[in-house]
Amino acid sequence: MKEQSHIKRIAIFGSTGSIGTQALEVIAAHNDQFSAEILTANTNADLLIQQALEFQPNIVVIGDEKKYTAVKDALASTDTKVFAGQSALEEVAAMDCYDLMLAAIVGYAGLKPTLKAIETGKIIALANKETLVVAGDIIMRKAVEYKVPIIPVDSEHSAIFQCLVGETRNKIEKIILTASGGPFIGRKPNYLVNVKREHALQHPNWNMGVKISIDSATLMNKGLEMIEAKWLFNLSPQQVEVVIHPQSIIHSMVQFEDGSVKAQLGLPDMKLPIQYALAFPKRIKNDFPRMDFNKINTLTFEEPDVKTFRNLMLAWEALNKSGNMPCIMNAANEIAVYAFLRNRINFLDMTDVIEQTMATVPFIEQPTLEEYFESDGEARNFAADLIKL
Ligand code: NAD
Ligand code: MG
Repeated sequence: MKEQSHIKRIAIFGSTGSIGTQALEVIAAHNDQFSAEILTANTNADLLIQQALEFQPNIVVIGDEKKYTAVKDALASTDTKVFAGQSALEEVAAMDCYDLMLAAIVGYAGLKPTLKAIETGKIIALANKETLVVAGDIIMRKAVEYKVPIIPVDSEHSAIFQCLVGETRNKIEKIILTASGGPFIGRKPNYLVNVKREHALQHPNWNMGVKISIDSATLMNKGLEMIEAKWLFNLSPQQVEVVIHPQSIIHSMVQFEDGSVKAQLGLPDMKLPIQYALAFPKRIKNDFPRMDFNKINTLTFEEPDVKTFRNLMLAWEALNKSGNMPCIMNAANEIAVYAFLRNRINFLDMTDVIEQTMATVPFIEQPTLEEYFESDGEARNFAADLIKL
């Protein structure tokens, strides 16, 4: 089966996460079109084993080396090869047993395997927005050099990508990224200072991994997405706009030079953009719930409250400054989010940590890849020292 050329062989990096598990549902529903060739997890060995037994991939990688023996033993009676450790992620990404990488690792950790996949000519379905935030110039340059398509999975960017199909000759005036506003829409700092992890993890419309859920509550997620959009669609900062749209039905919009606006709509379900990215340029029939316009009676829009949700302003600054500033911001944000999740700092402290890190770590206008790695490390150390981790 797997050798047949019409089957797209998929490597899911981060298969045990929110995106990864939903991608496996898509693959299971369309096993005449896709096979799961590589699956990787960081620490969740039990789920990785379960997935391997069900999907019989060629290779699995467990990031946590202490769990290697458990995974190896559990899969001893299968043909699946087992690897462990961070460097194995890069080695496996370079192998030629697959066609498309779904980059669904969360955070900076996704950057290096994705780079390897690009350098070995794989199609990239990109969920991991942090990869473009950290080193978007290098990633996009390499994608051109190796003639690799980068198809966005993030719902907003998938929407814009879909709006741009057939518009290659037409100039974009601006894009409008929609944001749900997260669980704390309309709240003010005196409320936010007391919110706890459990509260912040309750997203009104989407069920996602913990890091992106906190990023959605602080609006950093939209900040990261502005930078992601700049690189994916080759835009200037002035061409990127954010509007709050609490219903999450319009996933984003493109305004062309003639003033016409195209939008992509759908129920909030990540399986749709995941399926679109895996199957592109085809659309595949599925049984996902359909929208009923008789039941959606209001779609509303408002300006983001950037005085309260200051992360969006910081991201705007990073977007404008460019160079290594988005990389510094991303690193500080990762440290701050995990400190908040462990109840070490409060909700508003996250912004202060990011702001101070951005003001301190040396700015580099045109960093090399090595310099991005160094800036990431410096920013992490500085932010961790601030929090006294
Ligand atoms: P998640 O936390 O649910 O899953 C993350 C996956 O990455 C897991 O499989 C985990 O094992 C793996 N992982 C984590 N740290 C790792 C490390 N250091 N090394 C190797 N593997 C590691 O995250 P998610 O919500 O699925 O998000 C994944 C990415 O997709 C993020 O970049 C996120 O911003 C983006 N995204 C997610 C959604 C969503 O609905 N969940 C929507 C749009 C974009
Ligand atoms: Mg998104």
